[in-house]
Amino acid sequence: MDFSKKYDIVVAGAGIAGVAAATAAARMGYSAALIEKQNLIGGLATSGLIFVYLPLCDGEGRQVIFGLAEELLKISLQYSPFGLTEKWGGQEKHSREDGDRYLCYFSPAGFTLSLDRVLKEAGVDLWLDTLVCASGVSSDGTVTAVEVENISGRGRIGAKCFVDASGSAQLVRRAGGEVFTEANYNTPWLVQCSPENSHYHWKDSLHVHYLNSWEEKFRAGDALNARDVTAFTRNAWEDIRRFYDHAYASAGSDKNHLFPVHLPAMPQFRKVAAAKGVCTLKNGQEGQRFEDSIGLCPDWRQPGPVWETPYGALVPEKVRGVLTAGRCISAVDDAWEVFRVIPSAAMTGEAAGMAAALSVKNQCDPSELKIGELQQELRRKNFRLHLDEI
Ligand SMILES: Cc1cc2nc3c(=O)[nH]c(=O)nc-3n(C[C@H](O)[C@H](O)[C@H](O)COP(=O)(O)OP(=O)(O)OC[C@H]3O[C@@H](n4cnc5c(N)ncnc54)[C@H](O)[C@@H]3O)c2cc1C
Repeated sequence: MDFSKKYDIVVAGAGIAGVAAATAAARMGYSAALIEKQNLIGGLATSGLIFVYLPLCDGEGRQVIFGLAEELLKISLQYSPFGLTEKWGGQEKHSREDGDRYLCYFSPAGFTLSLDRVLKEAGVDLWLDTLVCASGVSSDGTVTAVEVENISGRGRIGAKCFVDASGSAQLVRRAGGEVFTEANYNTPWLVQCSPENSHYHWKDSLHVHYLNSWEEKFRAGDALNARDVTAFTRNAWEDIRRFYDHAYASAGSDKNHLFPVHLPAMPQFRKVAAAKGVCTLKNGQEGQRFEDSIGLCPDWRQPGPVWETPYGALVPEKVRGVLTAGRCISAVDDAWEVFRVIPSAAMTGEAAGMAAALSVKNQCDPSELKIGELQQELRRKNFRLHLDEI
């Protein structure tokens, strides 16, 4: 090994879930490292150009997600031309009207800068351009270290507890844990310069544009196959080329006024791999009470349904010493669809970071953590845990 380091908590992946997890752990006074393979933080939300922070409310007048998810939403606006909806934060901060939920748009680059400040102020040790490439597992199945690769060579980073926020259950898979996979559609999002005002317009002519090609379906498991990942990305590029070629061929558009500015640096798969947990969220569990709930999650697609989030969905079934957060927690089908978005990534990230800190404090595996202690800490952060609390 070319280098080695040790921390209380190591978080793999600096997407929204990873930033929230590392920040929460560091704010509780523990040494926390956040390891990211790209040279940007924010994951799909920033490098993937997914610039819509979906709602924290149920669309029927109740805020259901609190804590870091709300803090991050607010700072996502610091360096961006967007604001909150008119009724945001006022007397009537919600309604059923379309677009009038607790959500906002943000500039991906601006959000990156704000997220970095949060990490810095919390004292998180950020490792950019560093790929987690192996999990070091002890004989009882506990992850004790990760192997990483970066410009300094190959290193070993140890921790008392890990959070897998890789969006693809990298740590869990590399430690022998099982995952769920599902099909994906290619719907490329890109930043372009255009004379038209897009639905998602930014300032003047610069905006994010997305192409809907729902018929291009990629099978479950493709997102875990390097050749299929390349094919998925090139398929998106081809669609984008076709879009501009068509636009230039029709009257009124030319390359001086309409052109691509920035393509996503991450493959825009919605569902890559969810780590099979002690408990798995499934279809029809909206409105269901889980005694071990660590937070609430609204359905971003429609007003009304709210889900409790069982702690067991963050605890991998066969791998010890690791929690999951974000879009790789244990969920399938419709439940995965509801939980895979930015606000719930922040919510599960914060809960996982706090659970990791408490596991270190109590010198126990996350699977043995007393749920009451975690729930007490979450309530201190203003979390609502059960449906009858909103
Ligand atoms: C086309 C599309 C549209 C979407 N629309 C919306 C929307 O409008 N609103 C919304 O809220 N959500 C939307 N989503 C979903 C949302 O963007 C993501 O699910 C969410 O941002 C996931 O956050 P995360 O932190 O769990 O994972 P990710 O954002 O995937 O972050 C994981 C991080 O881990 C890093 N990583 C992975 N492997 C390694 C490794 N081996 N070593 C080191 N680092 C690693 C990655 O580089 C990445 O930075 C959309 C998704 C897609 C694909």
